[in-house]
Amino acid sequence: MDISHIINELGEDRSLYFNAVAPPIVQASNFVFDTFDDLRKAFEDEDSAYLYSRGKNPTIEILRKKLAALDGAEDALVFNSGASAIFAAVLANVKSGDHIVSVDKPYSWAWRMFDNLLPRFNVTTTYIDGTKIENFENAIRPETRIIYLESPNSNTFELQDLEAVARLAREKGIITICDNSYSSPLQQKPIALGIDMALQSATKYIGGHSDTVAGVLTGKKDMLNKIFNEQLLNNGSIISPFNAWLILRGLRTLPVRLAHIKNSTEKVVAYLKNHPTIERVIFPFDEDFPQIDLAKKQMTSACGLLTIVLKTDSYNNIETFTYSLKHFLVAVSWGGHESLILPQAAGIGPELFDPNKEQHRMARVYIGLEDADFLISDLEQALTVL
Ligand SMILES: *Cc1c(COP(=O)(O)O)cnc(C)c1O
Repeated sequence: MDISHIINELGEDRSLYFNAVAPPIVQASNFVFDTFDDLRKAFEDEDSAYLYSRGKNPTIEILRKKLAALDGAEDALVFNSGASAIFAAVLANVKSGDHIVSVDKPYSWAWRMFDNLLPRFNVTTTYIDGTKIENFENAIRPETRIIYLESPNSNTFELQDLEAVARLAREKGIITICDNSYSSPLQQKPIALGIDMALQSATKYIGGHSDTVAGVLTGKKDMLNKIFNEQLLNNGSIISPFNAWLILRGLRTLPVRLAHIKNSTEKVVAYLKNHPTIERVIFPFDEDFPQIDLAKKQMTSACGLLTIVLKTDSYNNIETFTYSLKHFLVAVSWGGHESLILPQAAGIGPELFDPNKEQHRMARVYIGLEDADFLISDLEQALTVL
């Protein structure tokens, strides 16, 4: 399906809303039924009719159709956060005694769920270095139900061979879930590579304006229907119609924003790689990235997020450099219009800071919608403090 059709037309029927160009925010909790028969059918399958907005809502419905098509999936569910999409996808597929194999260092709230929450229900997780397929083979047990992936991984961007992992999991009857937030469906399509369910934080690229928190889960109809009925309706983790509308608005410009960010990120990476105070730049589409071949095989491009390793042995220098930047904001998240920086040292603190550990000198950089030259000159002046 053509991406322009998906983003601009699919799921929209203006005759239903006064021929308005922009779809309405259907800010209603409940919907009226004309017959007992219709009402009974809606009770039987809440995803078949508009009954109550914890389940199905017309504004959210438009978004679901577009997001499913973008991923090449049968269906999509939209949640009030990326974290709740992760929670629902995992919870719906485990019971007491089950085991999960997860890639090392998954997104922090997936990690906390695996370590703190699931053990209370006798579900355990083994973490592995996902860069080698043997590590998956060795970690799988008879009771393994889920392989949890995030490719590229947070902060250091290690990749997993999605096609190979999906093949292995399928042979063993294990469900694969991949966090695709880094790439968005425009740069990587996990479902086409054989992954069962793809998820994203729509807070990032799809929303794109740093004003809405939301999550997306895509996959086969039967898998998502189970999650809709067993998780979404029960947790009440549905997105609000207004936030769904904001995400829909963000989606309209996703291809244009990503194309711009891709170009400026390439320029910034090239600049940083040649800078004497930068030891290393970690970026999946850089020729020196250890898994560049795999990146090119399963992603169409990368953009926006990269990590720099600073050449310094001083915690204070890292802080001074960070706050010398005039146009990069110090904040979590990413995917919006504004460029950001997040040094690891900030979370470590001066007492524990050890410059011999490369990780302590890392800073994650997000390239927003500003022009590349504007950002490069800002980096140039701030890097002089190192
Ligand atoms: C932000 C993020 C999430 C969580 O999404 P929220 O919308 O913040 O709940 C999950 N995975 C990755 C990789 C993220 O960056």
